[in-house]
Amino acid sequence: VSAVVDPEIRVVTIEELGILRDVRRDDATGRVTVTITPTYSGCPAMDVIRADIRRALHTAGYDDVAVETVLRPAWSTDMISDAGRDKLAAAGIAPPSPVSARSEERAPQSRTNATSAGSRVVGVRLSVRCPRCGSPDTQELSRFGATACKSLWRCRECREPFDRVKPL
Ligand SMILES: [Zn+2]
Repeated sequence: VSAVVDPEIRVVTIEELGILRDVRRDDATGRVTVTITPTYSGCPAMDVIRADIRRALHTAGYDDVAVETVLRPAWSTDMISDAGRDKLAAAGIAPPSPVSARSEERAPQSRTNATSAGSRVVGVRLSVRCPRCGSPDTQELSRFGATACKSLWRCRECREPFDRVKPL
């Protein structure tokens, strides 16, 4: 089951993303219960992940499969394992920065436009590095990349665009 990959980020498994919480098998009934935590709310990927888990277990010979969803503790990008982060980087996807490193990105919205825009630039420059050359000189092109869960960025150093998993 842990080999099931995120349908949107094919190189990373649900275990490495921290989505997979628990797999239990009831010896009496033979039922396999898989517990997962959804990532981004409204992300259609979770339905695909559920179906993939069922298919993987059916293929492995388990007919009675239940997939349960737990919302607490809530998933965050901090649950992505080091191996998962390395794979994301290797695939040219910038891994989300740890929560502690992106406080500047969450500047209060009540400030004036000029102030909040300025602090956002600072936070971005500190936290998002190009997955190809490692340059911190990057800019966000679009809040929405290939999917709603990713945003599109561009490196000013090597001029390559890249996807970034949105921090949550
Ligand atoms: Zn670059």
